[in-house]
Amino acid sequence: MAQLIDGKIISKQIKDELKEQVTAMKTEGKEVGMAVIQVGKDPASTVYVGNKKKACAYIGIRSESYELPEETTQEELVTLIERLNRDDAIHGILVQLPVPAHIDEQAIIRAISPKKDVDGFHPQSVGALSIGQKGFVSCTPAGIIQLLKRSNIEIEGKECVVIGRSNIVGKPMALLLLRENGTVTVAHSRTKNLKEVCKRADILVVAVGRPKMIDASYVKEGAVVIDVGIHRGADNKLCGDVDFDSVEPVASAITPVPGGVGPMTIAMLMYNCVEAAR
Ligand code: NAD
Repeated sequence: MAQLIDGKIISKQIKDELKEQVTAMKTEGKEVGMAVIQVGKDPASTVYVGNKKKACAYIGIRSESYELPEETTQEELVTLIERLNRDDAIHGILVQLPVPAHIDEQAIIRAISPKKDVDGFHPQSVGALSIGQKGFVSCTPAGIIQLLKRSNIEIEGKECVVIGRSNIVGKPMALLLLRENGTVTVAHSRTKNLKEVCKRADILVVAVGRPKMIDASYVKEGAVVIDVGIHRGADNKLCGDVDFDSVEPVASAITPVPGGVGPMTIAMLMYNCVEAAR
Protein backbone atom coordinates (compact mmCIF):
# COMPACT_ATOMS: atom_id res chain seq x y z
CA MET A 1 0.00 0.00 0.00
CA ALA A 2 1.30 3.44 -0.91
CA GLN A 3 2.24 6.03 1.69
CA LEU A 4 -0.42 8.76 1.62
CA ILE A 5 1.21 12.21 1.32
CA ASP A 6 -1.12 14.29 3.47
CA GLY A 7 -1.25 17.92 2.28
CA LYS A 8 -3.69 18.86 5.02
CA ILE A 9 -1.25 17.93 7.80
CA ILE A 10 1.84 19.34 6.04
CA SER A 11 0.13 22.64 5.10
CA LYS A 12 -1.04 23.02 8.71
CA GLN A 13 2.57 22.50 9.91
CA ILE A 14 3.74 25.27 7.57
CA LYS A 15 0.92 27.63 8.60
CA ASP A 16 1.67 27.00 12.29
CA GLU A 17 5.38 27.75 11.71
CA LEU A 18 4.40 30.98 9.94
CA LYS A 19 1.99 31.91 12.72
CA GLU A 20 4.86 31.71 15.21
CA GLN A 21 7.09 33.85 12.99
CA VAL A 22 4.37 36.44 12.40
CA THR A 23 3.69 36.63 16.14
CA ALA A 24 7.41 37.18 16.78
CA MET A 25 7.52 39.88 14.09
CA LYS A 26 4.57 41.63 15.77
CA THR A 27 6.46 41.82 19.05
CA GLU A 28 9.21 43.64 17.12
CA GLY A 29 6.54 46.06 15.84
CA LYS A 30 6.26 44.62 12.31
CA GLU A 31 2.85 43.63 10.98
CA VAL A 32 2.62 41.57 7.78
CA GLY A 33 0.06 42.90 5.28
CA MET A 34 -1.39 41.38 2.14
CA ALA A 35 -3.73 42.92 -0.45
CA VAL A 36 -6.16 40.53 -2.13
CA ILE A 37 -7.83 41.84 -5.30
CA GLN A 38 -10.74 40.20 -7.09
CA VAL A 39 -12.31 41.63 -10.24
CA GLY A 40 -15.82 40.37 -10.93
CA LYS A 41 -17.77 37.69 -9.12
CA ASP A 42 -16.58 34.38 -10.54
CA PRO A 43 -17.86 31.89 -7.90
CA ALA A 44 -14.71 29.71 -7.91
CA SER A 45 -12.53 32.83 -7.50
CA THR A 46 -14.71 33.97 -4.60
CA VAL A 47 -14.09 30.62 -2.85
CA TYR A 48 -10.31 30.83 -3.46
CA VAL A 49 -10.15 34.45 -2.26
CA GLY A 50 -12.18 33.55 0.85
CA ASN A 51 -9.78 30.68 1.65
CA LYS A 52 -6.77 32.98 1.24
CA LYS A 53 -8.26 35.57 3.58
CA LYS A 54 -9.06 32.84 6.12
CA ALA A 55 -5.46 31.61 5.99
CA CYS A 56 -4.21 35.19 6.53
CA ALA A 57 -6.46 35.53 9.59
CA TYR A 58 -5.23 32.19 11.00
CA ILE A 59 -1.56 33.16 10.68
CA GLY A 60 -2.03 36.76 11.82
CA ILE A 61 -1.40 38.45 8.47
CA ARG A 62 -3.51 41.59 8.03
CA SER A 63 -5.42 41.24 4.76
CA GLU A 64 -6.91 44.12 2.81
CA SER A 65 -9.61 43.04 0.44
CA TYR A 66 -10.51 44.79 -2.85
CA GLU A 67 -13.64 43.47 -4.53
CA LEU A 68 -13.87 45.34 -7.82
CA PRO A 69 -16.78 45.25 -10.27
CA GLU A 70 -16.58 43.19 -13.48
CA GLU A 71 -16.44 46.39 -15.60
CA THR A 72 -13.25 47.69 -13.88
CA THR A 73 -10.85 48.91 -16.58
CA GLN A 74 -7.28 47.71 -16.91
CA GLU A 75 -6.10 51.27 -16.16
CA GLU A 76 -8.09 51.39 -12.90
CA LEU A 77 -6.69 48.02 -11.82
CA VAL A 78 -3.11 49.05 -12.66
CA THR A 79 -3.59 52.34 -10.75
CA LEU A 80 -4.69 50.38 -7.65
CA ILE A 81 -1.73 47.98 -7.98
CA GLU A 82 0.70 50.91 -8.32
CA ARG A 83 -0.74 52.50 -5.18
CA LEU A 84 -0.32 49.21 -3.29
CA ASN A 85 3.24 48.87 -4.67
CA ARG A 86 4.05 52.15 -2.88
CA ASP A 87 2.20 51.23 0.36
CA ASP A 88 4.78 50.19 3.01
CA ALA A 89 2.10 48.40 5.08
CA ILE A 90 1.40 45.99 2.19
CA HIS A 91 4.02 43.27 1.62
CA GLY A 92 2.20 40.98 -0.80
CA ILE A 93 -0.21 41.77 -3.64
CA LEU A 94 -2.45 39.05 -4.98
CA VAL A 95 -4.71 39.53 -7.99
CA GLN A 96 -7.01 36.53 -8.24
CA LEU A 97 -6.83 35.07 -11.77
CA PRO A 98 -8.48 34.84 -14.20
CA VAL A 99 -9.31 38.52 -14.64
CA PRO A 100 -12.19 39.43 -17.03
CA ALA A 101 -11.37 39.05 -20.74
CA HIS A 102 -11.10 42.82 -21.41
CA ILE A 103 -8.07 43.02 -19.06
CA ASP A 104 -4.63 41.84 -20.23
CA GLU A 105 -3.56 39.31 -17.59
CA GLN A 106 0.14 39.61 -18.42
CA ALA A 107 0.02 43.42 -18.06
CA ILE A 108 -1.50 42.98 -14.59
CA ILE A 109 1.16 40.45 -13.59
CA ARG A 110 3.89 42.86 -14.78
CA ALA A 111 2.33 45.79 -12.88
CA ILE A 112 2.90 44.09 -9.50
CA SER A 113 6.26 44.97 -7.97
CA PRO A 114 8.54 41.88 -8.01
CA LYS A 115 9.13 42.63 -4.29
CA LYS A 116 5.42 42.03 -3.61
CA ASP A 117 4.84 39.29 -6.22
CA VAL A 118 3.70 36.61 -3.76
CA ASP A 119 2.19 34.50 -6.58
CA GLY A 120 5.62 34.31 -8.24
CA PHE A 121 4.17 35.01 -11.71
CA HIS A 122 6.16 38.19 -12.58
CA PRO A 123 8.70 37.65 -15.41
CA GLN A 124 11.45 38.79 -12.99
CA SER A 125 10.46 36.08 -10.46
CA VAL A 126 10.31 33.45 -13.21
CA GLY A 127 13.69 34.58 -14.58
CA ALA A 128 15.26 34.46 -11.11
CA LEU A 129 14.05 30.87 -10.65
CA SER A 130 15.45 29.82 -14.02
CA ILE A 131 18.96 31.15 -13.23
CA GLY A 132 18.95 29.99 -9.61
CA GLN A 133 18.60 33.40 -7.96
CA LYS A 134 16.44 34.36 -5.02
CA GLY A 135 12.86 35.32 -5.84
CA PHE A 136 9.27 34.30 -5.28
CA VAL A 137 8.32 30.87 -6.60
CA SER A 138 4.90 29.89 -7.94
CA CYS A 139 2.98 28.51 -4.96
CA THR A 140 1.68 25.15 -6.26
CA PRO A 141 5.08 23.77 -7.39
CA ALA A 142 6.79 25.26 -4.31
CA GLY A 143 4.20 23.40 -2.21
CA ILE A 144 4.96 20.13 -4.00
CA ILE A 145 8.67 20.46 -3.12
CA GLN A 146 7.61 20.91 0.54
CA LEU A 147 5.35 17.83 0.32
CA LEU A 148 8.26 15.75 -0.96
CA LYS A 149 10.84 17.10 1.51
CA ARG A 150 8.61 16.88 4.56
CA SER A 151 7.68 13.29 3.57
CA ASN A 152 11.42 12.44 3.44
CA ILE A 153 11.31 11.68 -0.29
CA GLU A 154 14.70 12.33 -1.87
CA ILE A 155 14.74 14.23 -5.17
CA GLU A 156 18.49 14.32 -5.86
CA GLY A 157 19.48 11.98 -8.68
CA LYS A 158 15.90 10.78 -9.20
CA GLU A 159 14.18 10.51 -12.59
CA CYS A 160 11.45 13.15 -12.36
CA VAL A 161 8.75 13.41 -15.02
CA VAL A 162 6.39 16.41 -15.04
CA ILE A 163 3.32 16.10 -17.29
CA GLY A 164 2.18 19.60 -18.26
CA ARG A 165 4.12 22.73 -19.24
CA SER A 166 1.91 25.57 -17.98
CA ASN A 167 3.56 28.76 -16.68
CA ILE A 168 2.05 28.33 -13.21
CA VAL A 169 2.62 24.61 -12.61
CA GLY A 170 4.54 22.52 -15.17
CA LYS A 171 7.44 24.85 -16.07
CA PRO A 172 8.27 26.12 -12.54
CA MET A 173 7.85 22.55 -11.24
CA ALA A 174 10.49 21.33 -13.68
CA LEU A 175 12.88 24.15 -12.67
CA LEU A 176 12.40 23.44 -8.96
CA LEU A 177 13.02 19.71 -9.37
CA LEU A 178 16.16 20.59 -11.34
CA ARG A 179 17.25 22.94 -8.53
CA GLU A 180 16.89 19.95 -6.17
CA ASN A 181 19.20 17.96 -8.47
CA GLY A 182 16.54 15.74 -10.02
CA THR A 183 16.91 14.50 -13.62
CA VAL A 184 13.91 16.18 -15.16
CA THR A 185 11.74 15.44 -18.20
CA VAL A 186 8.79 17.65 -19.13
CA ALA A 187 6.02 15.85 -21.03
CA HIS A 188 3.09 17.65 -22.70
CA SER A 189 0.28 17.30 -25.21
CA ARG A 190 2.70 16.72 -28.12
CA THR A 191 4.87 14.16 -26.30
CA LYS A 192 5.17 10.86 -28.17
CA ASN A 193 5.02 7.60 -26.18
CA LEU A 194 3.75 9.34 -23.04
CA LYS A 195 3.34 6.04 -21.20
CA GLU A 196 6.96 5.02 -21.81
CA VAL A 197 8.19 8.45 -20.69
CA CYS A 198 6.08 8.32 -17.51
CA LYS A 199 7.18 4.78 -16.72
CA ARG A 200 10.76 6.03 -16.35
CA ALA A 201 9.74 8.29 -13.47
CA ASP A 202 10.78 7.74 -9.87
CA ILE A 203 8.77 10.91 -9.17
CA LEU A 204 5.80 11.61 -11.45
CA VAL A 205 4.09 15.01 -11.18
CA VAL A 206 0.81 15.13 -13.07
CA ALA A 207 -0.63 18.53 -14.11
CA VAL A 208 -2.55 17.77 -17.31
CA GLY A 209 -5.96 19.12 -16.35
CA ARG A 210 -7.75 15.91 -17.46
CA PRO A 211 -9.76 13.95 -14.89
CA LYS A 212 -8.26 10.55 -13.95
CA MET A 213 -6.17 10.41 -17.16
CA ILE A 214 -3.16 8.75 -15.53
CA ASP A 215 -3.81 5.15 -14.50
CA ALA A 216 -1.46 2.37 -13.35
CA SER A 217 -0.32 1.68 -16.93
CA TYR A 218 1.68 4.99 -16.80
CA VAL A 219 3.36 4.32 -13.47
CA LYS A 220 6.53 2.39 -12.57
CA GLU A 221 6.21 0.07 -9.56
CA GLY A 222 7.31 2.04 -6.48
CA ALA A 223 7.09 5.51 -8.06
CA VAL A 224 6.05 8.60 -6.08
CA VAL A 225 2.97 10.15 -7.73
CA ILE A 226 1.93 13.78 -7.20
CA ASP A 227 -1.49 14.73 -8.53
CA VAL A 228 -1.98 18.46 -9.18
CA GLY A 229 -5.36 18.20 -10.93
CA ILE A 230 -8.65 19.24 -9.36
CA HIS A 231 -11.96 18.41 -11.00
CA ARG A 232 -15.51 18.13 -9.77
CA GLY A 233 -17.14 15.03 -11.25
CA ALA A 234 -20.77 14.57 -12.29
CA ASP A 235 -21.30 12.94 -8.85
CA ASN A 236 -20.16 16.30 -7.30
CA LYS A 237 -17.06 14.57 -5.85
CA LEU A 238 -13.56 16.00 -6.36
CA CYS A 239 -10.99 13.99 -8.31
CA GLY A 240 -7.54 14.62 -9.74
CA ASP A 241 -5.68 13.99 -12.99
CA VAL A 242 -4.62 10.61 -11.56
CA ASP A 243 -6.92 7.62 -11.27
CA PHE A 244 -6.17 7.14 -7.57
CA ASP A 245 -7.73 3.66 -7.17
CA SER A 246 -5.75 2.31 -10.12
CA VAL A 247 -2.39 3.95 -9.23
CA GLU A 248 -2.32 3.65 -5.44
CA PRO A 249 -1.50 -0.10 -5.42
CA VAL A 250 1.62 0.36 -7.63
CA ALA A 251 2.95 3.66 -6.21
CA SER A 252 5.20 3.88 -3.14
CA ALA A 253 3.66 7.25 -2.18
CA ILE A 254 0.78 9.28 -3.60
CA THR A 255 -1.13 12.52 -2.94
CA PRO A 256 -4.92 12.25 -2.60
CA VAL A 257 -7.44 14.68 -4.16
CA PRO A 258 -8.72 16.50 -2.20
CA GLY A 259 -6.21 16.91 0.63
CA GLY A 260 -2.93 16.58 -1.30
CA VAL A 261 -1.45 19.41 -3.37
CA GLY A 262 -4.47 21.76 -3.02
CA PRO A 263 -3.96 22.92 0.59
CA MET A 264 -0.23 23.47 -0.06
CA THR A 265 -0.83 26.25 -2.59
CA ILE A 266 -2.34 28.60 0.01
CA ALA A 267 0.27 27.65 2.64
CA MET A 268 3.05 28.65 0.22
CA LEU A 269 1.26 31.89 -0.66
CA MET A 270 1.35 32.72 3.05
CA TYR A 271 5.02 31.69 3.17
CA ASN A 272 5.82 34.06 0.29
CA CYS A 273 3.97 36.91 2.01
CA VAL A 274 5.92 36.46 5.26
CA GLU A 275 9.17 36.30 3.22
CA ALA A 276 8.16 39.53 1.43
CA ALA A 277 7.70 41.25 4.79
CA ARG A 278 11.14 40.07 5.93
P1 NAD B 1 -3.05 23.91 -18.19
O1 NAD B 1 -4.31 23.52 -18.90
O2 NAD B 1 -2.53 25.29 -18.31
O3 NAD B 1 -1.89 22.94 -18.69
C1 NAD B 1 -2.09 21.58 -18.92
C2 NAD B 1 -0.83 21.00 -19.54
O4 NAD B 1 -1.06 19.62 -19.77
C3 NAD B 1 -0.44 21.62 -20.87
O5 NAD B 1 0.90 22.07 -20.78
C4 NAD B 1 -0.57 20.50 -21.90
O6 NAD B 1 0.51 20.47 -22.81
C5 NAD B 1 -0.58 19.25 -21.04
N1 NAD B 1 -1.50 18.25 -21.60
C6 NAD B 1 -2.81 18.42 -21.90
N2 NAD B 1 -3.31 17.27 -22.39
C7 NAD B 1 -2.30 16.38 -22.42
C8 NAD B 1 -2.20 15.03 -22.83
N3 NAD B 1 -3.24 14.37 -23.33
N4 NAD B 1 -1.01 14.42 -22.69
C9 NAD B 1 0.05 15.08 -22.17
N5 NAD B 1 0.01 16.35 -21.77
C10 NAD B 1 -1.15 17.00 -21.90
O7 NAD B 1 -3.26 23.47 -16.68
P2 NAD B 1 -2.53 23.93 -15.32
O8 NAD B 1 -2.91 25.31 -14.99
O9 NAD B 1 -1.09 23.55 -15.36
O10 NAD B 1 -3.29 22.97 -14.30
C11 NAD B 1 -3.26 21.55 -14.42
C12 NAD B 1 -4.24 20.95 -13.43
O11 NAD B 1 -3.87 21.32 -12.11
C13 NAD B 1 -5.70 21.41 -13.57
O12 NAD B 1 -6.53 20.33 -13.25
C14 NAD B 1 -5.84 22.51 -12.55
O13 NAD B 1 -7.15 22.67 -12.10
C15 NAD B 1 -4.93 22.00 -11.47
N6 NAD B 1 -4.33 23.03 -10.59
C16 NAD B 1 -4.35 22.80 -9.26
C17 NAD B 1 -3.76 23.69 -8.39
C18 NAD B 1 -3.77 23.40 -6.94
O14 NAD B 1 -3.60 24.29 -6.13
N7 NAD B 1 -3.93 22.13 -6.56
C19 NAD B 1 -3.14 24.85 -8.88
C20 NAD B 1 -3.10 25.05 -10.26
C21 NAD B 1 -3.69 24.11 -11.12
